[in-house]
Amino acid sequence: MRTVDELIAEGVRGRRVLMRADLNVPLDDSTGERVITDDGRIRASLPTLQALREAGARVVVAAHLGRPKGERDDRYSLAPVAARLGELLGVEVPLATDTAGSGAQAAVAALSDGDVCLLENVRFEAAETSKDDDARGALADRFAALADLYVDDAFGAVHRKHASVYDVATRLPHAAGRLVATELDVLTRLTEDPQRPYVVVLGGSKVSDKLAVIEAMLPKVDRLLVGGGMCFTFLAAQGHGVGDSLLETDQVETCRRLLAEAGDKVVLPVDVVCAEALVADAQVKVVPVDAIPDGLKGLDVGPNTVDLFGQHLADAHTVFWNGPMGVFELAPFTHGTRGVATAVAAVDGLSVVGGGDSAAAVRQLGLDEDGYGHISTGGGASLEFLEGRELPGLAVLSGGAG
Ligand code: ADP
Ligand code: MG
Repeated sequence: MRTVDELIAEGVRGRRVLMRADLNVPLDDSTGERVITDDGRIRASLPTLQALREAGARVVVAAHLGRPKGERDDRYSLAPVAARLGELLGVEVPLATDTAGSGAQAAVAALSDGDVCLLENVRFEAAETSKDDDARGALADRFAALADLYVDDAFGAVHRKHASVYDVATRLPHAAGRLVATELDVLTRLTEDPQRPYVVVLGGSKVSDKLAVIEAMLPKVDRLLVGGGMCFTFLAAQGHGVGDSLLETDQVETCRRLLAEAGDKVVLPVDVVCAEALVADAQVKVVPVDAIPDGLKGLDVGPNTVDLFGQHLADAHTVFWNGPMGVFELAPFTHGTRGVATAVAAVDGLSVVGGGDSAAAVRQLGLDEDGYGHISTGGGASLEFLEGRELPGLAVLSGGAG
């Protein structure tokens, strides 16, 4: 896999480089204005972007934001991202008026050496995520016409077979950005001969998203700690009532089988923080897992669970953590995530945080990012990598130049 630094060594001055970045940041629009609540992903794309600029490339950044429905929708415009990127770079970053049409062509034509422009949200084009190879190919042709070279630095999107991630790389000479290279380096250390004990902590909202990774990782890890919304399907599989907590009834049977196969490798919460509703001033009740009241939702793991998980993490030498332990976005439900995040940071060895929300939680809760060996920008991508699946965006970078 060629890296952007090799590409730069070959000379990029005056060349148009299409750089796919992961700028899918969380936004708060409750004030009527769209405010970026965590710019971690924008900052993570700066090293590659700066290296290209300093080498005199004309950088055309492509990115997605949220899930617009394949057509222009200003609620998903990258305008706030262009503004923040410009602030961080200290130069103006013009936003093209479209993704790959005449607006994009005009923005690219206006670039001088070392300049950067941002294309509008790639998901304004229905073809970006299409299952139809020809539809994606036609969009990729339009992307390719905007540039001479392609650099993929969007680690968070490499598991997607999308036009701006996959197809365009078959049409232009390509390289991996620095962020993608770093992510691969660290995740490879987790899959190849991790120092033991190796403990994985999983949380977040959806079990069905993560069952495959649990299945694939169980044989490789020494312990798997499960919290977050997904723990309730496991608790239900053990026969507990879970009140109004998140429950994926169609996954209960699979969870039961996984628990049977895993023996005592899987560690579940022993207490939970419950409330009637997901609100910032919720009245909370902490209960043991066998006494979750009807009508209440489990929205965080309890203090005894934080202690228990902490004990399991204390002697670990390799840790991968994905998924918040609770609804950390709301003050009454931050403690579980804070406690576990703190225990992960204290690990003597390699600690990796993966997942957009988990990384955002670390920063939002004011924890020291330097406490972790690595904070991955890609949740789904890092999980699929750890599952051992082939990721289309990486596979295509390893292939020959288009
Ligand atoms: P990541 O982005 O790190 O991979 P996920 O997207 O899987 O994480 O999950 C993050 C979401 O899970 C957060 O928005 C959080 O509020 C939610 N969550 C965590 N615990 C619970 C719970 N008990 N009930 C409902 N949602 C939860
Ligand atoms: Mg998420």
